Amino acid sequence: MKQNVNKKINELNIQNYQPNIIAVSKTFPLENIKPLIEYGHLHYGENKVQEALEKWSRIKKLKPEIQLHLIGKLQTNKVKIAVSLFDFIHSVDSVKLAKKIASEQIKQKKKLKLFLQVNIGKESQKNGILIEDVNKLLDECSSLNLNVLGLMCLPPIDLPARNYFSQIKDKNFELKLKFLSIGMSNDYMDAIEFKSNFLRIGTKIFGKRN
Ligand SMILES: *Cc1c(COP(=O)(O)O)cnc(C)c1O
Repeated sequence: MKQNVNKKINELNIQNYQPNIIAVSKTFPLENIKPLIEYGHLHYGENKVQEALEKWSRIKKLKPEIQLHLIGKLQTNKVKIAVSLFDFIHSVDSVKLAKKIASEQIKQKKKLKLFLQVNIGKESQKNGILIEDVNKLLDECSSLNLNVLGLMCLPPIDLPARNYFSQIKDKNFELKLKFLSIGMSNDYMDAIEFKSNFLRIGTKIFGKRN
C-alpha cells in the first residue's frame, strides 16, 4: 500500500508540471494529521517552531522521509531548533536571519531549502521584505552559500491574488530562481496558473482552525 502511494508520487513528479502540496497542520494535533501521514503524504507546514518541535520530533525520527516546512516568522533565537527540525524555511526575510541560518547550518552540517518571503502588498502587519530589496538579500544569501529555491508571498486577503502572483513570478524569473511558494486555501487555483511549486494549504485539508 505504502509502496504504491510512493510510486504514485514519483510518477506524478516526473509529469510536466506538478505543484507540491504542503499540508499546513498548524494548531492541529498529530492525531488529526496521522491519516494523511499513513496515506503517504510527505510535505507538512507549521508556523511556530516550538509547536512543531513538540508535534513532529518523534514522528520525523520514525519517518525521515517526511518534509517539514517552516512557513511562519522565524526569530533568530529559534534558528538552532529550526535548522535541526525543518527541511525547508519559507520565511527568510533579513540578512541577520540569513547569517544566523548559515552559521547554524555549518555547526549542524545541514543544508535547508530556503525561500525569501516578500511582503508583496507592502502591508504593515505582514512579514517579509519589500520586492525592491529582494536582489540585495539574495546576493547576501548567495555569498553565505545558502540554498535559496525561490520567493514566497502571502497576498493581501481582500484583493485579487493574481496581480501579486504575477509580480512575484516575474521577480522570480528575473532572478533566475526556479521555485515559487504561493497559494493557500482561498487562492490556490490562481497560484497553480502561475506555476506555483509549493501550495501551502491548511483549511481546505484539515478544516477551520480555532
Ligand atoms: C496558515 C498559513 C497557510 C495556510 O492557510 P489556509 O488559508 O488555511 O490554507 C499558508 N501559508 C502561511 C504562511 C500560513 O501561515
